[in-house]
Amino acid sequence: MTKEIEQFAQLGIGEALTAALLEYGIGKPSPIQAEAIPYILEGRDVLAQSQTGTGKTLAYLLPLLQRIDPDKKESQVLVIAPTQELAMQIVREGEKYGGPLGIGTIGLIGGASAARQVEKLRQRPHLVVGTPGRLRELLSTRKLKLHEVRSIVLDEADQIFQMGGADDVRSLLKGALRDRQLIFLSATLGTDVRALAEREMRDPADVGIEPEQKLAKSTQHLYFVCQERDRIDTLRRVVRHYNPQRAIVFVNQADTIAEVESKLNHLGLEARTLYGDADKVTRATVLSQFRSGKFRLLVATDVAARGLDIPGLELVVHLDPAADSEHYVHRAGRTGRMGRKGLSVSIVTDRQAFIMRKFSRELDTAIEERALYEGAVLAPAEAEERRAGAVRRTPKGPAKKEAGRGPAGPGRGVSPGSSGASPAGTSSGADAAGGERGGSGRGSEAAERGGAGRPNPAKSAGRGPKGKKQPNKDKGAPKWLKEKRSTQDPS
Ligand code: AMP
Repeated sequence: MTKEIEQFAQLGIGEALTAALLEYGIGKPSPIQAEAIPYILEGRDVLAQSQTGTGKTLAYLLPLLQRIDPDKKESQVLVIAPTQELAMQIVREGEKYGGPLGIGTIGLIGGASAARQVEKLRQRPHLVVGTPGRLRELLSTRKLKLHEVRSIVLDEADQIFQMGGADDVRSLLKGALRDRQLIFLSATLGTDVRALAEREMRDPADVGIEPEQKLAKSTQHLYFVCQERDRIDTLRRVVRHYNPQRAIVFVNQADTIAEVESKLNHLGLEARTLYGDADKVTRATVLSQFRSGKFRLLVATDVAARGLDIPGLELVVHLDPAADSEHYVHRAGRTGRMGRKGLSVSIVTDRQAFIMRKFSRELDTAIEERALYEGAVLAPAEAEERRAGAVRRTPKGPAKKEAGRGPAGPGRGVSPGSSGASPAGTSSGADAAGGERGGSGRGSEAAERGGAGRPNPAKSAGRGPKGKKQPNKDKGAPKWLKEKRSTQDPS
């Protein structure tokens, strides 16, 4: 470690900061740090493509803290972040590394008391971190003065734009010195970010990872196919199988998040939610409880979880598939950070499986299909074989299909634990999807959704007759479903 830390020194980081880094167990600069630190120390504008989990926060904080003059009672560095959580994380890092240097940090964050922030601003903290709306508000009422700010950072710039912060950012840039250093960090350098960079930056140093390295190599990507009504139960089985200490479960809609939370708690999975509209205190409490292990599953929307750093997070579950590969990258990026092992699991219906193949292509990363069978995680073909075996051994009635899969997926090999077949009656053939006990709530779920025991092609889950076997089940079904049934359906 002592040898490695010299690499920080070689990049130009001084003794006080390298000592602090050692204290927090950080020895070797990450690639983004090695690239960005020298430019930032020089005072150059920097445009960095980087994900969270790559050490991007310290890539800019270390050199900027070093450039701050603690004797000058002026705000010298401004960091703009899209969400309250990310801003608070940056504040914490600023305090951790800047505090011992005599550098004061303030968080100017929406949702918290503006009066207290204004009071604290009077002490002229050296490092100001905030969300765009609150910063602009304080700038327009002249509580925040930027005339001594020499460096401005836009962290997760793409997200700031997506969340409508472009005008706020423009005002903030206008209010600062013309001769300021600009640092933009963004997971993707989209047109908005590039346009702003072109307009505002002078000869920026372009740093960052190659697009094909967007996803951490240490993370494994899997997906499980199930019927719409079995999503929650599939999640339960995934959690039971991998048994993580903590996991984030992503959903696409904030308005169904409470329902998901209560279903998970009903299954004994200890879940709490994090979503954009919750007040700041609730969000902070939930996060700190999650970090300290008070509950196991954090159910979150994309916006709420943006940029979150949960050390040692082992599993990310996409209960709904990500909206696009960019969102997938952000979600999966919560795990496998700084070279640690991570697992990203998507739960999709048969009709959504193509999304996984699309992400896999776009991100040039293997996202492999797996199937759950009696508590084991298997390659789909093997699960199919075992299921068929179970059916053969059980003369009465066919086994229900766990997942109405389409053509065999690319699944290679078997993930750890694949031999963990349940000790309970392997020959029952009874329901691979939920037959292994504990499916409380499944019945009500199915009833709620009104789904039949087959993949439902209709967008709205409420269509189709409930529950029992339908004699005329192909009536009105689209052609693709009829074809699939004729090839797959054992009944
Ligand atoms: P970030 O990408 O800034 O969200 O950082 C992700 C995590 O990595 C944080 O918990 C950092 O404290 C940690 N970290 C940052 N730089 C390093 C490094 N050079 N070596 C090990 N861990 C680091």
